[in-house]
Amino acid sequence: MKDCIFCKIIAGEIPSWKIYEDDLVYAFMDIGPINFGHTLVIPKEHHTSTATIPEATAGRMFRVGARIGVAQKRALDADAFNLHLADGTCAGQVVMHAHLHVVPRNADDTFHWNWRQLKYDTPEVAGELAEKLRNALKLEPQD
Ligand code: 5GP
Ligand code: ZN
Repeated sequence: MKDCIFCKIIAGEIPSWKIYEDDLVYAFMDIGPINFGHTLVIPKEHHTSTATIPEATAGRMFRVGARIGVAQKRALDADAFNLHLADGTCAGQVVMHAHLHVVPRNADDTFHWNWRQLKYDTPEVAGELAEKLRNALKLEPQD
C-alpha cells in the first residue's frame, strides 16, 4: 500500500535489519526496541488489522514469532520473550500495517507491562458479557 512504511520496508524502499522472510511474512528488528533484538513480524500483504489477515498468514506470523523468540533466547541469552500485538490506535498501534512484536526479556531488564486485574461484580455480570462476546464472534471481521 502506498504511504505505508512497512510496505516500503518489504519492498526494500526503506532499509531494515531483516531477520526472516518467506512467502507470507517478513520479520525485522524494531528501530526503537524495548530490549535489543526486539523484532517485528508482519504479513507481506497489507492489513491494518490482524482480524482480516487470512488464517495461513496469521498462523505463520505466530509460528515465526515464537521461533524468533527462541532464537532471541539462544543468540541474546534472553531468559524469555513476550509476543505483543496492538490492534487499533487506543490499544497502542502506531503503524497501521498489522505487526507482531517479539520482545526478548531478561529477569533484570526493569521493563514492566502496566497490567491491572479488575474484578467482575458478580458471576452473572461476567456470564452476560461472555454471551455478548459469543454472539459478536459470529460476525465476520472487517478492516
Ligand atoms: P506499534 O506501536 O504500532 O505496535 O509499533 C510500531 C513499531 O514500529 C514501534 O515499536 C516502532 O519503533 C517501529 N517502527 C516504526 N517505524 C519504523 C521503521 O521505519 N523501521 C523499523 N525497523 N521499525 C519502525
Ligand atoms: Zn502496509
